[in-house]
Amino acid sequence: MADAGPLIEVRSLRKNFPGGANAWGKSKGMVQAVADVSFDIRRGETLALVGESGCGKSTLGRLLLRLIESTAGSISFDGRDLTAMTGETLRRARPDFQLIFQDSGSAFNPRMRISAIVEEPLRIMGKPAAERKDKVLSLLQNVGIDRNMVDRFPHEFSGGQRQRIGIARALVSDPKFVVCDEPVSALDVSIQGQVVNLLMDLQRDFGLTYLFVSHDLRVVRHVSDRVAVMYLGGIVEIGPCKELYERPRHPYTKALLAAMPRKRREEQPKPAFVGGDIPSARNPPSGCRFHTRCPIAQPVCSQERPSLRPDGAAHQVACHFPD
Ligand code: SF4
Repeated sequence: MADAGPLIEVRSLRKNFPGGANAWGKSKGMVQAVADVSFDIRRGETLALVGESGCGKSTLGRLLLRLIESTAGSISFDGRDLTAMTGETLRRARPDFQLIFQDSGSAFNPRMRISAIVEEPLRIMGKPAAERKDKVLSLLQNVGIDRNMVDRFPHEFSGGQRQRIGIARALVSDPKFVVCDEPVSALDVSIQGQVVNLLMDLQRDFGLTYLFVSHDLRVVRHVSDRVAVMYLGGIVEIGPCKELYERPRHPYTKALLAAMPRKRREEQPKPAFVGGDIPSARNPPSGCRFHTRCPIAQPVCSQERPSLRPDGAAHQVACHFPD
C-alpha cells in the first residue's frame, strides 16, 4: 500500500509526434499523443492507467522512464528533475526506473542463457561477478524459476515463464519505480492471475511503486490503489480504485466500466452508451476532447476544455458536468 508522499510528480507533460507527410510531401502536422497531463504517483502505490488503444497511455509510461523525450512539461522523480537530467547523471539514475512490457521474452537474445540475460544490467552497472551471481539466482528464485533451470535458453520456457524472467531482469537493478505496460495481456488467461499475483508480491517484498498500463479493467481492479483514465492524450478522471469503480464521475469512465465483461454469464456487459471511434489525435476536437461522443454534451463543452478538478477528497475529474 502507498505511503503518503509522491515518488513521481508530473506537471503539464506534453508529447507531440510529427504526423508524417501526404503523397505530395506536405506535412500532416503534429500528433498530440500526450496533452498537458499532471498527476502524482505515491511511494509504494500502484497507479493504473486505462483507456482505449491509441489514447496515449503507453507513450505516457515511456515518457516517465525517459525512453522518449517530452515536448514540454516536467517530471520530478524522488525530488529530482528527471526531465533536466542528461549524460552521466541520467545513466546513473536509470537503474531506479524500469519497464516490464507485454512480451518481455521477445526482446531476449535467443543465444544467451537466462542467467546471463538477467545478469546483463548488473554487468552494465559494473557490479562485481560474485554479487551479480548471487543476486541473479535469488531473484530468479523470487519470480518462480528454479535454480536448475538458470542455464537454459529462452526457447526452453513457456510464455508465462519468459515473462517471469523479464520481470526478474527488470528488477535486478533494485528499481524504485516500474512501468508495467500490459504485462499480462499476451498471456493465457489461466496464467495471467499467477503473474499479476507475482507482481503484487514483489511490490510488497521490494517496496516497489508501479504504473500499471492496461486496457483490462478486471485486472486493473485487482491490482491498483488508484486509477487514472486517459482519453485522447489527456487524463479525464483519477481517483481511488474502489471509489472510481463504484461511483465513476466522468461519462467516458462510465462507458468503459459499462462495457466491462462480467463474471457471471447472466450479467452481460451493458451496451456502451458512447458511439463512434476515438477522434484523431492529429486534429483533436475543440473544448472537451470527448464532446463528439459524449451523450450529455452541452454547447460549452465544444468551447472550453475542462481542467482536472477535485471532486471529493481524493478524486479529480475533467468534466463541466461530472456525475
Ligand atoms: Fe461530456 Fe461536456 Fe463532460 Fe466533456 S465536459 S465529458 S462533453 S459533459
